[in-house]
Amino acid sequence: MSSCNVRSADEDIWTRQIFLTQLCSQEPSKSGTAAAVSIAKQQPWQLSVGSDGIRVMMESALTARDRVGVQDFVLLENHTSEVAFIENLRKRFKENLIYTYIGSVLVSMNPYKDLEIYTKQHMERYRGVNFYEVSPHIYAVADNAYRSMRTERRDQCILISGESGAGKTEASKKVLQYYAVTCPASDHVQTVKDRLLQSNPVLEAFGNAKTLRNDNSSRFGKYMDIQFDFKGAPVGGHIINYLLEKSRVVHQSHGERNFHIFYQLIEGGEDDLLRRLGLEKNAQQYQYLVKIVRKALSVIGFTDDEVEELLNIIASVLHLGNVQYGGEDSGSSYITTDTQIKYLARLLGVDGTVLKEALTHKKIIAKGEELMSPLNQEQAASARDALSKAIYGRTFTWLVNKINDSLAFKDDSFNSKNASVIGLLDIYGFEVFQNNSFEQFCINYCNEKLQQLFIELTLKSEQEEYEAEGITWEPVQYFNNKIICDLVEEKFKGIISILDEECLRPGDASDITFLEKLEDTVGGHAHFVTHKLADGKTRKVMGREEFRLSHYAGEVNYNVNGFLDKNNDLLFRNLKEAATQFKNSLAKLMEILMSKEPSYVRCIKPNDAKQAGRFDEVLIRHQVKYLGLMENLRVRRAGFAYRRRYENFLQRYKSLCPDTWPNWNGRLVDGVSSLVKHLGYKPEEYKLGRTKIFIRFPKTLFATEDALEV
Ligand code: ATP
Ligand code: MG
Repeated sequence: MSSCNVRSADEDIWTRQIFLTQLCSQEPSKSGTAAAVSIAKQQPWQLSVGSDGIRVMMESALTARDRVGVQDFVLLENHTSEVAFIENLRKRFKENLIYTYIGSVLVSMNPYKDLEIYTKQHMERYRGVNFYEVSPHIYAVADNAYRSMRTERRDQCILISGESGAGKTEASKKVLQYYAVTCPASDHVQTVKDRLLQSNPVLEAFGNAKTLRNDNSSRFGKYMDIQFDFKGAPVGGHIINYLLEKSRVVHQSHGERNFHIFYQLIEGGEDDLLRRLGLEKNAQQYQYLVKIVRKALSVIGFTDDEVEELLNIIASVLHLGNVQYGGEDSGSSYITTDTQIKYLARLLGVDGTVLKEALTHKKIIAKGEELMSPLNQEQAASARDALSKAIYGRTFTWLVNKINDSLAFKDDSFNSKNASVIGLLDIYGFEVFQNNSFEQFCINYCNEKLQQLFIELTLKSEQEEYEAEGITWEPVQYFNNKIICDLVEEKFKGIISILDEECLRPGDASDITFLEKLEDTVGGHAHFVTHKLADGKTRKVMGREEFRLSHYAGEVNYNVNGFLDKNNDLLFRNLKEAATQFKNSLAKLMEILMSKEPSYVRCIKPNDAKQAGRFDEVLIRHQVKYLGLMENLRVRRAGFAYRRRYENFLQRYKSLCPDTWPNWNGRLVDGVSSLVKHLGYKPEEYKLGRTKIFIRFPKTLFATEDALEV
């Protein structure tokens, strides 16, 4: 017998075992060889095949585990050790194995290089396959959600989190691509698939920008529903956007840029378009990109006129940015850049004189009469900036609404209530900067809520599984972050309520009076501190304009400067209510997510240099903490590390016991029972549920795995 040398790179224990199982069932015939080759070719294994049969030499499970780590953190021997956790990530990252599970949660490391793992063949490999039979992958999460939706008729959501540059948007695109390729299609569906896919480049052009941390950073949060009909074909979609970072339109930090669309337009717009818009060309390098965006807009269903209108508005924002002011002796301001006004008036379709007045005056009501009061130079400049931000923000909302119109399923015979839904959440992760402001406060509050949902649902699903299997539930101690959520959102006495109150209070309300109110109201809260100490002294490490929240993920100091203005900006649409829009939209999002079965993808960024192959341990350890991964693992490991359906367990280990080899014909539970008794499992090491075996410690499982190799 000649040899067929198969080396496994990851394909950790599971895949290799399936390979073996399949080989064992093959005769050493030509077709058997072909089968082996085709299985092995899908793996990163070297293969040479003899003519008269197959002999398989596998790397031992022990060596493989040592080299590539475990593909599920629950199998770590010391699951409470952060060092072991990081070490496992490191080993896998080194082998380009960017995905690892914690139970059903997918941990994803950004490789910062293209890996050959997103091909059509890979998609096929994950289609309809049991979660644990193939190595961890974003496609496995996508497929699992899709199958649960189809078989259990339950709406799903995939929640993707991680810090800027960790790979959230890329992951959400991979999920969309997976559905676009693998779901059934018809003519109409093809259009929907195209539109779903094309909504990405459009939203990225208008909502993404180059930042220090990510060349293509999403500056808004996004929740997207994909609707499927009863055949499982995608028939529509809907997008909700959160907190576009409008301030970027008028200000960017050093080394960062404005939203992509501005550069794409100026550097890639055709000459006559730019002439019409009153803009000057800069460079050629974006020619290609602006075409992509225009093509995408047309696929989504924008008419030429609408595209032109959109570009008019973008050009207006650029012109607004160039409006300059001079100051009169009286203190009032005047505009020194008439050309800009000329273009603006034309592009926005307003009268030049009216526009000039609007940019240098504000409306006041005195004695029941409306008057125009002049602004000084500084006030006028900030009014101009506020206008730019408002125009851009509204345009973005309009764009999202247009995309939603185009994604809405319009066939009357189809009742969207009958549609099943998979939601995709690509939202900013927990943020801690040197200086944290209102934006970080909102973002971190959002993450606090998501963490609450995560803990609740993970515990709930664990508990449900135990109940379904008839196994006694052992309560798990965990940190419930509801106390922090309440501190932020509670009616009347939460931070947001106090902020709203200050925003609506006439008179001397300022960021500082807001901070003072906070001290009065929540000063004694265990998760809140300012520079003031209870004995009247001051805490030296904190600034006088700061408050600190102890989030589940760590402590963050927020500088209150600008809180009132920024909150007003969110409030202005519905001033009459005293609850902020963001809090409401978050509450709505939580409701949407609660009604669905969640899957989680936790993205990690390996280094700050955007480089392949660099594993920055300090940075990674931070993220493991902020993402709550150790807590997640603890909950998942609280009872049993490993569980598998009886049929899968038997299929895999039946060769280890004469009773079950080559086949077991009795009740599955009895087969598993004989098998584990034969292997010498002790009663405290495992439990038999209705359909699954539960094994408490990884070492029991590994011993069984290793027995296979002998
Ligand atoms: P932000 O919060 O700033 O929007 P993000 O988490 O959405 O960040 P992405 O834009 O998805 O981050 O990823 C940043 C970059 O990392 C991508 O542009 C790409 O270059 C690289 N990247 C991310 N995921 C992958 C992957 N799976 N394979 C290859 N490269 C990737
Ligand atoms: Mg992103």
